[in-house]
Amino acid sequence: MHYDVIILGGGQAGTPLASRLAAAGQRVLIIERAEFGGTCINVGCTPTKTMVASARAAHVARTAARLGVQVKDVTVDLAAVVKRKDAIVKEWRQGVEGSLRAAGDRVAIIKGHARLVGEREIEVNGERHRAETVILNVGASAAVPAIPGLAEVPFLDNQRLMELQELPRHLLIIGGGYIGCEFGQMFRRFGSEVTILDHNEHLLSREDPEISAALEGVFRKEGIDLALSAQVEGVRLAAGEVAVRTSLGKELRGSHLLVAVGRRPNTGELGCAAAGVELDRHGFIRVDEGYATSAAGVYAVGDVTGGPQFTHTSWDDHRLLFNRLMGQHPRPRSQRRVPYAVFTDPQVAGVGLSEREAQKEGRPYEVAVMQFGDTARAVEVDETAGVMKVLIDPQSEQLLGCRIVGAEAGELIHIFVSLMEAGASARAIVDAEFVHPTFAEGVQQLVMRLKRYAIS
Ligand SMILES: Cc1cc2nc3c(=O)[nH]c(=O)nc-3n(C[C@H](O)[C@H](O)[C@H](O)COP(=O)(O)OP(=O)(O)OC[C@H]3O[C@@H](n4cnc5c(N)ncnc54)[C@H](O)[C@@H]3O)c2cc1C
Repeated sequence: MHYDVIILGGGQAGTPLASRLAAAGQRVLIIERAEFGGTCINVGCTPTKTMVASARAAHVARTAARLGVQVKDVTVDLAAVVKRKDAIVKEWRQGVEGSLRAAGDRVAIIKGHARLVGEREIEVNGERHRAETVILNVGASAAVPAIPGLAEVPFLDNQRLMELQELPRHLLIIGGGYIGCEFGQMFRRFGSEVTILDHNEHLLSREDPEISAALEGVFRKEGIDLALSAQVEGVRLAAGEVAVRTSLGKELRGSHLLVAVGRRPNTGELGCAAAGVELDRHGFIRVDEGYATSAAGVYAVGDVTGGPQFTHTSWDDHRLLFNRLMGQHPRPRSQRRVPYAVFTDPQVAGVGLSEREAQKEGRPYEVAVMQFGDTARAVEVDETAGVMKVLIDPQSEQLLGCRIVGAEAGELIHIFVSLMEAGASARAIVDAEFVHPTFAEGVQQLVMRLKRYAIS
């Protein structure tokens, strides 16, 4: 069959592109090999955040005495937690598929693994289809590192971990990035013993050290074991347990092992060579500023391009590519600011430059740091853990970047996202009236700790 547009992958960019291109009069085919909604809805953001909510409920109940409230015997029913998660995931997945089907004849849907077989030609379920435009939104999967013995051990990834019906006695996690951190705290709060291993000196190793240290302090206080600067040398089964040998000299043992060391692109079985689509050395699809691949008429969006791997980035890719396909000239993708949040408790969120990045770029900056607990609101609700940091340009006073470890950091960061997008001066935060007592008021206090704004 011939279409105007064929989209491979029904992820965070593919599905809105299909609906919008169809609404714009294009005849679209979208192909998905698993479930519509992709990683985010099925095995990523949605299920993790519903389970993080359950874990937080357990933690709040268990620690309620700090607020003068006695709660006895907190137990977590993992099967019920997973059932709630599955119900939400199912509803959202059906919602995505339903919105595609609502487009009627204008969007053809095929379930199956698609492969590029020639110039803008694809094969799925033994049939070939062609189009003027092909869009690749095939995403990424959990990477499996080359650790001796790993293949002989029944290790878990993000998907399998969220299917467990019984609580692991002791969960070992290889990888202290955001996925390892979110799962580590979640299962600790459910009641498992948890050990997180990472070869870096700190969790969330891309962050400035005091940002990582703030989270590490909380994790240790909650009883999570951290094995940092630990190279994993081998994994084996030992008397029904998983044993991980590390460069720290001791073997760590647990009942379950989660491997969370990053994501690899789903380009292994995609047939990119047949269509002239170039990959980088890690297998990600090379794209230019407008998402064009090396093959004429073929575009790629989302995680598979190797950019920041977030749902909001993939969704924004869809917006920019849609505008481009409609003949507009949206800004180049590299000129976007990409904020992020880690949904630990406290959350970790950032946008723009970290101090380490500013130093690396040789960029002049002024910096202010403030403990999250220095805010009235944080004390009142006993959510004092964390730290905040802001960088501004000394000449223009424009915001360069911000990092927040603290309650609702994922919400607070949008103060900076919006002002940076508007090119505003940090003075806008000083001059604005912030509501008392709020966490946002703490953001204002942070900025007022920059020497030039300090009230003596
Ligand atoms: C545990 C976890 C938690 C996360 N939490 C967050 C979070 O809180 N916030 C956030 O912003 N991001 C989060 N992410 C990342 C986020 O899920 C991804 O960045 C996002 O889903 C990427 O969207 P995408 O459209 O690029 O690809 P995907 O959503 O992965 O979609 C790709 C789709 O393509 C399909 N596909 C692949 N190959 C083929 C083929 N050959 N033929 C047909 N179909 C194919 C796949 O089945 C999949 O449905 C999380 C990820 C994980 C793993």
